[in-house]
Parts: sequence; C-alpha cells; structure tokens
Amino acid sequence: MKEKTTQLKDIYDAFDADTRDLVKGRACTRGCSFCCREAGSIDITTLEGMIIRKAMEKMPKSRQKTLTKAFRSEIKQREAGNAVPCPFLMKNNACMIYEERPFSCRRIYSAHVCDRDAPPAVNRQVMERAHQAIAALQQLDNTGYSGHLSYILYMLSVPAFLKTYTAGEFKPEEIMEFGKAHRIVINRTRS
Ligand code: SF4
Repeated sequence: MKEKTTQLKDIYDAFDADTRDLVKGRACTRGCSFCCREAGSIDITTLEGMIIRKAMEKMPKSRQKTLTKAFRSEIKQREAGNAVPCPFLMKNNACMIYEERPFSCRRIYSAHVCDRDAPPAVNRQVMERAHQAIAALQQLDNTGYSGHLSYILYMLSVPAFLKTYTAGEFKPEEIMEFGKAHRIVINRTRS
C-alpha cells in the first residue's frame, strides 16, 4: 500500500508537471467551488479511497459520523437524479481533504469563470494527458475499482470488501450487482 501510494503521487506529480504551462491562464481561484458542486461524478479508484479513509480517520469522530451520513444521503440523492455538492466541501468552500483529494479534482480547471450556462472549458491536450493518468492510476490499482467517490467509500466501509481488497485479492463477482447498478469500473479490465 505504501509503495503504491508513492507511485500514485508520482502519477499526480507527472500530470502537474506535464500540464503546468497549458493551464497557466486558468480562471480558478481559491474559494471557487463550482466543480465541487456541479461537476457531477467525482470518480476515484479504490486506492485513492483508501487514502481518503486514512485522512478521515484523523478527523474528530463526530465529523466522521456526519460524513458517513452525508455519503449515504448523497447516494440516495444521486439515485433520485439530483446534483449534490461533494460531502467534503465545507461551508467556507474549502475542501476538507485538500491534500488527499483524488485525481478527478486535481485534473479539473477552467479557462473561464464557470457558471451553470458555462461549464469548465478545458484544453484538449490536458484532457488527453488526464486520460493517460487515469489509465495509469487504474493499472496501479489493478485489484481495485473506479467509480463515484461516495460509492467507492461506501464499498470500503463494508468489512468483507475491505478485507478482500487489502489482502490484494481480486473477486469482482462479489460486487457485480452493486457495480452494475452504480457504474463501478473494474480497473483490471483496462490494464
Ligand atoms: S474532494 Fe474536495 S476538491 Fe474534490 S470535489 Fe470534494 S470538496 Fe471538491
């Protein structure tokens, strides 16, 4: 896990270095949370989910409880077709897990200030580089899965799933039903 976490950070860093010049004119500013509220699916890998869980373990118990409730509520809201802000977004528009935020949040930026009529505008080369980074992240997590943040964190909160995943075992048949219902991708098929 430790070694994989280092490799994951190397993928993040390589993406940042490769796209630094391309995103220089971005309109994103501290306190803008458009993507955290409106961008739809925040896909993460299970490995990223484990890193987020570790960050959550350092939070006060009351906050952990509130977050767990928020994930459940977000799952219900999404299933009802409603857009819901990310559970990690705080009232001051800051991210609760900024240092450990997943790649989905790191890759997004916009050349203009966004609103509902003007969603993020992203350079094509940055998007292509992001696709390569996602493929590398999925390959690295080759006994894991990818999907929206709340679903992956929910899966990791199920003791039987967590045990299988942390043992490095690969049993996609055990999550098949949940996976199909929630667009969970099996990372190994992409490697
Ligand atoms: S994890 Fe943080 S940066 Fe990503 S969508 Fe949620 S609040 Fe925003």
